[in-house]
Amino acid sequence: MNVDDFNTPSNFIRNIIEEDLRTGKYGGLVHTRFPPEPNGYLHIGHAKSICLNFGIASDYNGLCNLRFDDTNPTKEEEEYVESIKEDIKWLGFDWGDRLYYASDYFDQLYEYAIQLIKAGKAYVDDLSAYEIREYRGTLTKPGKDSPYRNRSEEENLDLFNRMREGEFSDGSRVLRAKIDMASPNLNMRDPVMYRILHEKHNRTGDKWCIYPMYDFTHGQSDSIEGITHSICTLEFEDHRPLYDWFIKELDIYHPQQVEFARLNLSYTVMSKRKLLELVEEGYVSGWDDPRMPTISGLRRRGFTPRSIRNFCERIGLAKRDSMIDMALLEHCVREDLNKIAPRVMVVLRPLRVVIDNYPEGQVEELEAINNPEDPDMGTRKIPFSRVIYIEQDDFQEDPPKKFYRLAPGREVRLRYAYFIKCVDVVRDQKTGEVIELHCTYDPDTKGGSATDERRVKATLHWVSAEHSLDAEVRLYDYLLLKEDPMGEKDEADFKHLLNPNSLETLRSCHVEPGLRGAAPGSRYQFERQGYFCVDNIDSSDDLLVFNRTVSLRDTWARIQKAGKGKD
Ligand code: ATP
Ligand code: MG
Repeated sequence: MNVDDFNTPSNFIRNIIEEDLRTGKYGGLVHTRFPPEPNGYLHIGHAKSICLNFGIASDYNGLCNLRFDDTNPTKEEEEYVESIKEDIKWLGFDWGDRLYYASDYFDQLYEYAIQLIKAGKAYVDDLSAYEIREYRGTLTKPGKDSPYRNRSEEENLDLFNRMREGEFSDGSRVLRAKIDMASPNLNMRDPVMYRILHEKHNRTGDKWCIYPMYDFTHGQSDSIEGITHSICTLEFEDHRPLYDWFIKELDIYHPQQVEFARLNLSYTVMSKRKLLELVEEGYVSGWDDPRMPTISGLRRRGFTPRSIRNFCERIGLAKRDSMIDMALLEHCVREDLNKIAPRVMVVLRPLRVVIDNYPEGQVEELEAINNPEDPDMGTRKIPFSRVIYIEQDDFQEDPPKKFYRLAPGREVRLRYAYFIKCVDVVRDQKTGEVIELHCTYDPDTKGGSATDERRVKATLHWVSAEHSLDAEVRLYDYLLLKEDPMGEKDEADFKHLLNPNSLETLRSCHVEPGLRGAAPGSRYQFERQGYFCVDNIDSSDDLLVFNRTVSLRDTWARIQKAGKGKD
């Protein structure tokens, strides 16, 4: 599929909203929310939800809230709250003064629970978690009523109050909704509303030792905030009847839950639990490791907010789960950086070249174009001298067919400089490895073209040895070896699928001198290599460190691959 076919400005959720606007269902209002649980950093899947919720609000003159779904005090941390806020802002969205926490509603939710108990719609159950599961039945077998299901209102109120007072131990009792133990939808078989958990909460401290479950929290929080369209991922479709039931029984304002398919991306994992495992077990350097599909990882890798927003726009919305090719995300960042990233010359794996007939001690300042896509970005001067570095793989002593770069006796162009011709090869005496080339240059080819119309077939990037700066460059590859880890039988242990070569660190790179002092996070195209950014943590004035965001497509690698395939 052509990637541009992904452009789908309208989608089924917009159709629902437009219909609701037309019929005046919510008085012409559109109010969405993004409801992360602060138990990990955001990933690119969340970006899809963020772009959707904030995007729809802005397109229809509505509002979008940020609400932390903080009902599980055991896994939630302030660090996550802060990172989530930072990532949303970085993506370019703003919740204004509408920052909420589900825990803000704990008092109200408690009152709602009392209301349901009084209406005979909720009861305290003494069954253990194991027994509750046993009693629930299966998809083919109806459940069984708990022996505690028909407790009196007084007894339920008393027990629920004592649960709250801290009289009972964790797991000894729960509050359940009284719905239907024979419902074909397992979510409707008297779901748990409250559990006992003697655990300090990030925001409410020791105030509570009972905590509401997600299903009893989410819809009511939407209702309290006046959300019109509660957009969530497909796995909540089966929860919608429960979402609707609580709101109907409580007789409160009723938002509409709408589901869409979550984003899955090839060659990576996308659940916070798995990402946390990678962090905790040291497979990556942190949540912001540039190999991670997290927003902070992508940011450190050099992705732009716009490229991620464009990606989310292009993948569109579906009602069925699917896998998006990582190549599309890469395409989106190349497309953006192509327009904005200045070009520079950097040699990653240096091969020393001495230009024998270039005067010793002479230095010329050559003019180079900063970005051919954008003339406004101007030009710069780069120094040229007798000893330069080129890329090791731009030379082959015994060049195969279709290898047009430097070889003994062959002439090539040095970008913005001169034609050079290889006249001699110096080898390491012990290993036989080529360690230096000797070339001659043609002074009549300054700027890169010959006066006699003589042609060369390749243009190489280079840096002046004496003037270049040392740098470390980190090359990243896919996190996983397998395109679709979910297809694995043993999906629980996805770690055997980790790509052992997902990070290659090059420590003897040479960059052109103009990059001295490059600001952390700044992005460049290294000519002929790809897009890179200055690492915002490890780079310093003493040693520049770059991360490869994405490579440029390499024709030679493709030809080689095709050739290999035929053997
Ligand atoms: P994960 O399954 O990755 O751990 P989650 O669903 O538990 O994520 P939440 O913090 O609950 O994470 O998610 C906040 C919002 O982001 C929810 O509305 C959820 O539906 C949405 N979301 C999460 N993952 C994806 C995804 N892969 N694609 C689209 N939306 C997602
Ligand atoms: Mg969740």
